[in-house]
Amino acid sequence: MTCIFCDIVNKKIPSDIIFENDALVAFHDIRPKAPVHALVVPKKHVASVNEFTKEDAPAIAALMFAAPVVAETLGVKDGYKIAFNVGRKGGQLIDHVHMHVLAWPGSPEGKKEVAPI
Ligand code: AMP
Ligand code: ZN
Repeated sequence: MTCIFCDIVNKKIPSDIIFENDALVAFHDIRPKAPVHALVVPKKHVASVNEFTKEDAPAIAALMFAAPVVAETLGVKDGYKIAFNVGRKGGQLIDHVHMHVLAWPGSPEGKKEVAPI
């Protein structure tokens, strides 16, 4: 099976990496939907949030812990959103779990309403 995010994890295709650890890779979204738009991808291929099992609990925790690290690295820890699209009807186009990290640092009030990601 070919998966573009597995290829990014394995460095077969380039990406603009923010940071990486044993469990995941964080990189900039190639078509950002916000001034700050990063993706955090577990190194293990899991198709969607629906496919997580109990064995994936450490990877799920790693994703959550990565959010403030990404936000701090990109200078938006005071305000950001995280999102998972799940399934085609949920807007998921790439079938490898990924957490979107979005921020609008130039907007004084922040952003409460967001277009589909
Ligand atoms: P989703 O619609 O939740 O599956 O989100 C997939 C996201 O991956 C979109 O925001 C795309 O812009 C992004 N994307 C697709 N290909 C790449 C790539 N090669 N590098 C970085 N981001 C990508
Ligand atoms: Zn994959």
